[in-house]
Amino acid sequence: MTNDCQMVWDSCLRIIKKNVSPQSFKTWFEPIKPVLLDNNVLTIQVPNKFFFEWLEEHYVQLLKTSIRQELGDRGRLVYHIPENGAPAVTFTQQTTPKSNKPSAEKDNEPVPGVFDAEMIKNPFVIPGIRRIKVDPQLNTNYTFDNFIEGDCNRLARNAGLAIAKKPGGTAFNPLVVFGDVGLGKTHLAQAIGNEVVKNFENKAVLYVSAEKFTNQIIQAIKNNAVNDFVNFYQLIDVLILDDIQFLSGKQKTQEIFFHIFNQLHQNGKQIILTSDRAPKNLEGIEDRLISRFKWGLSADLQAPDLETRMAILDSKMNSEGVEVDQDVLEFICYNIKNNIRELEGVMISLLAQSTLIRRNVDMELAKEVIRNFVVTLNKEITVESIQQLVAEHFKVPVERLHQETRKRNIVIARQLSMFLAKKLTNKSLKSIGEIFGGRDHSTVIYSCKAVQDMMDTDLIFKDTVAELEKKIKMSLNE
Ligand code: ADP
Ligand code: MG
Repeated sequence: MTNDCQMVWDSCLRIIKKNVSPQSFKTWFEPIKPVLLDNNVLTIQVPNKFFFEWLEEHYVQLLKTSIRQELGDRGRLVYHIPENGAPAVTFTQQTTPKSNKPSAEKDNEPVPGVFDAEMIKNPFVIPGIRRIKVDPQLNTNYTFDNFIEGDCNRLARNAGLAIAKKPGGTAFNPLVVFGDVGLGKTHLAQAIGNEVVKNFENKAVLYVSAEKFTNQIIQAIKNNAVNDFVNFYQLIDVLILDDIQFLSGKQKTQEIFFHIFNQLHQNGKQIILTSDRAPKNLEGIEDRLISRFKWGLSADLQAPDLETRMAILDSKMNSEGVEVDQDVLEFICYNIKNNIRELEGVMISLLAQSTLIRRNVDMELAKEVIRNFVVTLNKEITVESIQQLVAEHFKVPVERLHQETRKRNIVIARQLSMFLAKKLTNKSLKSIGEIFGGRDHSTVIYSCKAVQDMMDTDLIFKDTVAELEKKIKMSLNE
């Protein structure tokens, strides 16, 4: 079955390859994985929703044609977007000409990655042999190598590394990774799983979202197969349960999980849990479970600081073979502050533009792309906002910048404001002069030169200027 689906997809790829540029092929088609062929329905896994939308917008016709060529007129394409904390999304695509747009209907076909009751009843266990063959359901793109370390994640990351070397053999059992959405819980949990798979051929690793886990239990109850379900889970060496806050209020699921947890823990098996809040703040979860979550280590992920965000973006862009200047990286990361998933969205747009339209990833492109993500960026830098920040920095009232004075710090503040206004806005020398109490353009030129001279001779001053420039750009997003 798997081979068939690979074969069909390979044939589609051959058709596609002839019709798109090598760049586009690499960007948009190579990352696609065929996962299932069921009758006339081919399921392909795409990395994320953006990817799906891009394909639908740009290649829908080509995909349809190739699917129809391979599977006939009744051929259908189903997109599967791997779970990333959010509920699994599967989009279906009819190849019949009628429906151009994908219906966002949930797909009930079994997709690898979803156990169904059948599998639970009949897990891949050879009686008498303790080893089982389980598909770990991991996304192999999530590794430690591409999980950038920063202050925001150091503890959790290192605990994860320790676990991957000795699953079940550290004090971190369970490991609870918690933090806000988009901060890397799923990535880290999966990286641990992938590393264990790499290090220990015979360990059964299983990644499952709490939602899927709950659905499996519901199915098992319906099919009278709860015992099989529990037995299956007890054979896992490293169980990763993602987003356990989802178990909140689900009593029966919690009861069964409690049982599985105890069995695994007693047998020295590793349990890794992620949650959007600290265990003690989980509501609707039984105390006896929460107290067990606290047995091991709870490590939080925090919002990454600027340097970490830049390192993440840089590493992601580099891995796609795209170099980005430091100041462009910095600009993007100033503006996308809280959420790495959002940063990734920006990155994919940049990649799309740079690989498909062959644009350089420069400041102009970065601004354009970010504008789609950060509404407030439409705010332009104004001379007034520059004056405000500079005056604040020099601790002088803003009005003083407009007045005649020889007081040195005010003169410097004024000259610096003019310099930054020239550099960061589109205003002409003449209009900048006017804003500064009706001075003429030659004063502005003189000020810019004076600031440049000072920067060349005084490195501390140069740093101050850089610092202020950053602040001004940052204020765009506040
Ligand atoms: P969560 O599960 O906490 O909502 P994810 O694990 O889905 O967050 O992370 C969101 C995105 O951010 C993922 O694509 C992930 O690869 C990326 N990411 C998060 N933290 C890091 C990091 N430290 N280094 C590299 N990428 C990261
Ligand atoms: Mg997640």
